Amino acid sequence: MKPVLHFIDGRFVEGAAGRWFTTLNPATNEPLAQVAEGLAEDVDRAVRSARRAFEESWWRHKPAERAAALRRLAEALEAREEEFARLEVLDTGLPIRQARGQAARAAQNFRFFAEMATRMTGESYLVEGAFINYTVRKPVGVAGLITPWNTPLMLETWKLAPCLAAGNTCVLKPAEWSPLTAGLLAEAVAEAGVPPGVVNVVHGFGETAGAPLVAHPGVQLISFTGETTTGKEILRNGAATLKRFSMELGGKSPVLVFGDADLDRALDAAVFGVFSLNGERCTAGSRLFVEAPVYDEFIARLEERVRRIRVGDPLDERTEVGPLIHPDHWRRVHAYIELAREEGARVAVGGGRPAGLPRGNYLEPTLLTGVRNEMRVAQEEIFGPVLAVLRFEGEGEAVRLANDVKYGLAAYVWTRDVQRAHRVAQSLEAGMVWVNSQNVRDLRTPFGGAKESGIGREGGHYSFEFYTELSTIHVALGEHPIPRFGVE
Ligand code: NAD
Repeated sequence: MKPVLHFIDGRFVEGAAGRWFTTLNPATNEPLAQVAEGLAEDVDRAVRSARRAFEESWWRHKPAERAAALRRLAEALEAREEEFARLEVLDTGLPIRQARGQAARAAQNFRFFAEMATRMTGESYLVEGAFINYTVRKPVGVAGLITPWNTPLMLETWKLAPCLAAGNTCVLKPAEWSPLTAGLLAEAVAEAGVPPGVVNVVHGFGETAGAPLVAHPGVQLISFTGETTTGKEILRNGAATLKRFSMELGGKSPVLVFGDADLDRALDAAVFGVFSLNGERCTAGSRLFVEAPVYDEFIARLEERVRRIRVGDPLDERTEVGPLIHPDHWRRVHAYIELAREEGARVAVGGGRPAGLPRGNYLEPTLLTGVRNEMRVAQEEIFGPVLAVLRFEGEGEAVRLANDVKYGLAAYVWTRDVQRAHRVAQSLEAGMVWVNSQNVRDLRTPFGGAKESGIGREGGHYSFEFYTELSTIHVALGEHPIPRFGVE
């Protein structure tokens, strides 16, 4: 594997201090890649390059040319679809069947926002025939984009596409456990003829590369996806330079299955919703609430399904759940399973390393039953293939339990009663609710979390609320009164 370099001012470079770090292949925990370790000096070079590109290049002024460049970037991604998929698998342990298609979706992000770039509109207000006030949206400046290790390519392009479409320039700091596809993305940026400095990528650790980016006075915007505790620290660190923030944070999303639901489909969605992406999914339905009359039957079927999930080599086409990203993360997730036992829950399925997979960060898909809502395993984000199951009696209790958590990212409701579906969906404290549906995303709709799951929304024109500066122009249409000082 070739070394992964920073991408600064249109060139692939080593870090100023010449430091490197090694990433691991989650399927074997053998060394995978050497990655340039960025420090404050590299971040500073990247920010200065982004600032120059923002001020000097055509990029800021010409939406149609930006759109054309984003479309070329989409094509560059599609041309390397298989390479992206393979790298994502090697880097993160994502099963190949789920990694495939990520580059196509990433390309779709660029195409969608290329279109949006040419359609940005303002508003006008006619004031009693005396004024016309109108708004224009302008790019803000340099954005710091900080991303986590789960589905890195997807999450990086969700940020990059609207950021660039709006005319900003940026410094991307990918997660240290999964830098490979960001390296390839930088190659695609160069191939697509995006002007130097518009996109910079600095690799490195949170404290030594992420933090200097957040503190840098030349950065106006921080779009962050990651853990809630990290988000809070970033908010504190960015306060001194008054950054504008978009925060996509953790989740502990409820799935409510009512007795009248299509139980076959609810079962498919509940299993896929928490065990896809190896359970390392921000919108995972990790708390399953099942109504009492159907609880026993539903849980029996669920146990059977979870037991049969195919865990294995992520490059194997048949694999449904691959290894977790890193040994540290494996230990963290496994500790939660131990904690579940201590708290009095039952490990109904899984709970340990699967037979026949002695190496790598493999963990059995795990089902916890007998969980009470106040237990830590029902309240804290585990971010692995672990599902906590609870029973409820009636709509009131379902909503109360579902909302009794600090997070509010997503929620899922399964019922055939159309009135209840709307009533419950509107009562849930979540940024996004899916009714009789698995997690299907449309790029036009707002994405983001309530409560401790985030601040702000991205997606569609909501992205431009964050990535543009709104300027209001007031124009007098006639001779409105102007108080005259200093004339007597
Ligand atoms: P993390 O918070 O540990 O790290 C995320 C990024 O922040 C990494 O690039 C890291 O290097 C950087 N970072 C860490 N400390 C920093 C600091 N002090 N200053 C600046 N940057 C810093 O998160 P993770 O473990 O990589 O990702 C998993 C988390 O992400 C989960 O909580 C998950 O729910 C969340 N997530 C949320 C969404 C969403 O849309 N809401 C999507 C995906 C993941």
